Amino acid sequence: MEAIKAPRGTYDVLGGESWKWARVVNTARGVADDFGFKEAILPIFEHTELFSRGIGDTTDVVEKEMYTFTDKGGRSITLRPELTASMVRAYLENGLRHGPQPVKLWGWGPMFRYERPQKGRYRQFAQIDFEILGVSSPFADVEIIDSSMEIYRRVGLSNLRVLINSVGCPRCRPDYRESLRKFFETGLDKLCETCRDRFDRNPLRILDCKKPECRELTDSAPPMIDSLCEECKEHFMSVTRGLEKLGADVSLDNKLVRGLDYYTKTAYEILSGDLGAQNAVCGGGRYDNLAEAIGGPGVPGVGFASGIERIIITMEAQGAFMGNEPGTDVFVISAAGAEYEASLLTHELRAKGVSSDMDFMGRSIKSQMKYASQTGAKFVCIIGEDEISSGTATVKNMKDGSQETTRRESVCGKILSWKEAWAQ
Ligand code: AMP
Repeated sequence: MEAIKAPRGTYDVLGGESWKWARVVNTARGVADDFGFKEAILPIFEHTELFSRGIGDTTDVVEKEMYTFTDKGGRSITLRPELTASMVRAYLENGLRHGPQPVKLWGWGPMFRYERPQKGRYRQFAQIDFEILGVSSPFADVEIIDSSMEIYRRVGLSNLRVLINSVGCPRCRPDYRESLRKFFETGLDKLCETCRDRFDRNPLRILDCKKPECRELTDSAPPMIDSLCEECKEHFMSVTRGLEKLGADVSLDNKLVRGLDYYTKTAYEILSGDLGAQNAVCGGGRYDNLAEAIGGPGVPGVGFASGIERIIITMEAQGAFMGNEPGTDVFVISAAGAEYEASLLTHELRAKGVSSDMDFMGRSIKSQMKYASQTGAKFVCIIGEDEISSGTATVKNMKDGSQETTRRESVCGKILSWKEAWAQ
């Protein structure tokens, strides 16, 4: 029988990699704490309607990429392809709009999209997601963009490009849609098949197309910025001015419309030159009509989502990860017959806040030493035959090889003082 493999577009994150995930998620958590965002842990599956109404029927995500199934109760269920719609649903359903505003939420976890897998693009991938709900101030947009950049600053990413645009609002977008239709009408036969279809249904998405034949046309398409109503124009100016004041290097990208329909006013993306074809580490913007689209009252909101895999790929390409997977502070090595002592010593070390591990395989002292060094232990504690009879343990510093034999009851104190010196 053939061994079962993980489904296409999925992957396992194991010991050698998962510490990198922990570092990225912990950094995001630190930024969330410092910016006043509270964590939201939401369902991985939702009613399909949440996404078809929220994200938009004509988007690639809803049309082609959702993992949708009927559950045993006959409901149409979808594995979440993104988190924003769920965040807005949770905000409405839990009555958060009746409490103090705005509500700043963050979350992270797996998302699911049936896409063609390639480097940086998977069918199950993880996003970090920050949202500010209940506020239309442009300074909330500045805060969202700054919080995403703060994560990258803290994990040590450089060489990122921040692109920004305004996609207008229901007041000014219809006019822009019309001027785009007028512009594309004469060159319709030059567009790819997908964009010809978009011409009627959603002409803004033509601007997003990466095919060379479409790019040739879209390069000279009229920019949205020229069609913005006064309110959207003012909002955009305040956002860009606010970012400028923070020293952020941001460029206007007239073709940035993003793949999800719910955006209004601000849309932005952060790109890395070290990612290859799938070069976006982050995407976000304002979505003042999403709450209404899913059946709630009007609630403005702004947010971003960033792919954890892409952050890690960029960090690796830029050498932002220093060293290897961190090991335990101590590995306790014991001769045959000293297992109880080893177990007690490990227990005591852990109680003092020293991370420790021991041997369970009945290996020789020499191979336990090899294992300790392979797993990156900073120190070893040896309870060999001599140490058993004398009630002592030998403590060895793996960095410089120095060692000392000490009474068993002094081991914890010795390790703690060495650990302090190691950290300096
Ligand atoms: P989106 O939700 O499409 O705006 O995407 C936001 C971010 O999620 C992107 O900038 C990527 O970093 C990440 N992302 C989106 N789709 C995928 C995918 N299929 N695989 C890996 N990362 C993804």
